[in-house]
Amino acid sequence: MYIPYGRHDVNEADIQSVIDVLRSDFLTQGPAVPTFENAVANYCGARHGIAVNSATSALHIACLSLGVGHGDVVWTSPITFVASANCALYCGAQVDFVDVDSRTYNMSVARLAEKLAQARTSGKLPKVVIPVHLCGQPCEMAAIYALSQQYGFRIIEDASHAIGGRYKGEPIGNCRYSDITVFSFHPVKIVTTAEGGMALTNDPELANHMARLRSHGITRDTAEMTHAPDGPWYYQQIELGFNYRMPDLQAALGSSQMRRLDEFVTKRLAIARRYDELLSDLPVLIPWQHADSYSSLHLYVIRLDLSAIIHREVFERLRMNGIGVNLHYIPVYRQPYYARMGFSPSDFPEAERYYAEAISLPIYPGLTEEQQLEVVRWLINPIGHQTIF
Ligand SMILES: *Cc1c(COP(=O)(O)O)cnc(C)c1O
Repeated sequence: MYIPYGRHDVNEADIQSVIDVLRSDFLTQGPAVPTFENAVANYCGARHGIAVNSATSALHIACLSLGVGHGDVVWTSPITFVASANCALYCGAQVDFVDVDSRTYNMSVARLAEKLAQARTSGKLPKVVIPVHLCGQPCEMAAIYALSQQYGFRIIEDASHAIGGRYKGEPIGNCRYSDITVFSFHPVKIVTTAEGGMALTNDPELANHMARLRSHGITRDTAEMTHAPDGPWYYQQIELGFNYRMPDLQAALGSSQMRRLDEFVTKRLAIARRYDELLSDLPVLIPWQHADSYSSLHLYVIRLDLSAIIHREVFERLRMNGIGVNLHYIPVYRQPYYARMGFSPSDFPEAERYYAEAISLPIYPGLTEEQQLEVVRWLINPIGHQTIF
């Protein structure tokens, strides 16, 4: 039986919440979306939540609301999904990467500080920095925020992996150290709406702007209009927006899943602890957690200190035996579309080492103890039934 690296957990209450919407007056643009936005914003301690059809859309409108455009530069981590970088290109800006920390695999604060000092000299400071909370472990946001004050950039947290986690004891998503935080609700993530995402902020103007960009750039607020309404039917498009809306069907699923969020994270934590024990005698590096971090454990990434050939063989053998291991992520600058922009892998030695060694093991609330043992069995004894360790 195939064991994927991640899987949604949808129960009867979740299903019933969607059926209730199907029987209601609104399949989209009804009451379920604001209810879901409030549920997430309240959980996180943020003032505003803007639900959209994906985290990719949330990142796009987050960049636009912060004024990212032609001539700007946005920095992110190279160890992330391509969407964290693509959002800047959608706005006509350029992208650059900050190498990762050797222990957390998150954007390195030391590399960020160095790169900022150089960028100030060359006059190419970033407009926005997008730290990514890889695997659910928060970046060192207090330090990144301090640098933003010093150098004058804005911050979008890509917390696609991290809902339900905490930083310095407070919920990720409260935007204490950022302008905007983005979550993803793709089925492999912590809670799901099938496709879906949300942008959180404490700034009412950013919230208003993102809500407008989500729906074509249209306003019904007379104060924003160029003249008084022509009549009761009236609305104005005052900028170019998109249809990035989340339907009520999906928002209802999201609200139901939010009630289970803490239980999901607790289960992930128990699975991670068990992996920690099962792997303790093997020459694999298990995930290191910063003292400020309570990770939602979206991913459980181990590193094999082995040759590249063996890394690949271990990977292939696990896959061949029905273990859906994965590699999160191929460094974004290695993607052909980005490589053409002239990035050099040698500028990112930690990201390169990570890419040569990392494997994401299966972790999701429904993963059984037997399945976990199966994963570890194939990991220990992967090549021709001869142990490699
Ligand atoms: C999943 C993911 C995204 C994109 O999320 P979608 O909801 O699929 O658009 C962006 N950034 C990171 C780090 C992700 O893991």
